[in-house]
Amino acid sequence: VRGGHDVAMRFATIGSALYLVTDDTDGARCGVLVAPDAAAAYDAWDATLANARAVDASAAVPLDAAALGSPSPAPRQVFGIGLNYRAHADETRQPYPEAPNVFTKWVTCLTGPNADVELPSDTVDWECELVVVIGRTARHVDAASAWDHVAGLCVGQDISERTVQRTAPANQFSCGKSFATFGPMGPTLVTPDELRAAGLDPDDLALSCSIDGEPVQQSRTGDMIFGVAPIIEYLSRVLTLLPGDVIFTGTPSGVGVARRPQRWLQPGELLVSEIEGLGVLRNRCVDAPVRFR
Ligand code: ZN
Repeated sequence: VRGGHDVAMRFATIGSALYLVTDDTDGARCGVLVAPDAAAAYDAWDATLANARAVDASAAVPLDAAALGSPSPAPRQVFGIGLNYRAHADETRQPYPEAPNVFTKWVTCLTGPNADVELPSDTVDWECELVVVIGRTARHVDAASAWDHVAGLCVGQDISERTVQRTAPANQFSCGKSFATFGPMGPTLVTPDELRAAGLDPDDLALSCSIDGEPVQQSRTGDMIFGVAPIIEYLSRVLTLLPGDVIFTGTPSGVGVARRPQRWLQPGELLVSEIEGLGVLRNRCVDAPVRFR
């Protein structure tokens, strides 16, 4: 294991606090408080891992599923990668990108794994995605050492308001993807070693998404055009990736905008997103308190 540590762990947040998950039975999770401020805990990730190794598991408390927040509650930067699965580029009739196609989701859109998703219009779409949380500052990092800079992985939904996203003449990706509640993440942060210990390959995980039980997306992260390591290499050549930063790595085929007829999320629908080894998001769609359009 790189770095000489075997770090097979899961973490969860409630409010700003970071917990080590000691029992990950879905619906009945327990955990031990590791740090009162998760953002600070990411800034000192090696110390946080050492603290997590030393916790007294008998001090575990129930973690209320409804109270879970984004595993990184206050990232300084949130990136999204567009058109990163071959089948998704095909369904939207666009050529494969020559480099990772990067946009930002502004941090105020992030929410928890079981939070309601607010629909501000009639053209809101789903995008089930693997999400990376950075654990160590990354600047000019090559792909071979990129995984050393990853704190862990989780499931995410890159909820997208397609009319705003496609505003002419140029696109408005960041606005279309940053309405309140448009970034559910979780349910926990899973370290790459935790996946390897379970016999899984962090670069090739099954992911799927359903609406009211009807499957709409099904793929594997191994089908990404740019995997986790090349994305980190590319971003870190442009900018400095900071501990706690979040990367939504792109969605496979099966989104609503590409369907004929097109399909949009409706109030009352339950959006369920799952990635092998990482867990499940359950997000109920509701009307936004104020409509955008
Ligand atoms: Zn996306």
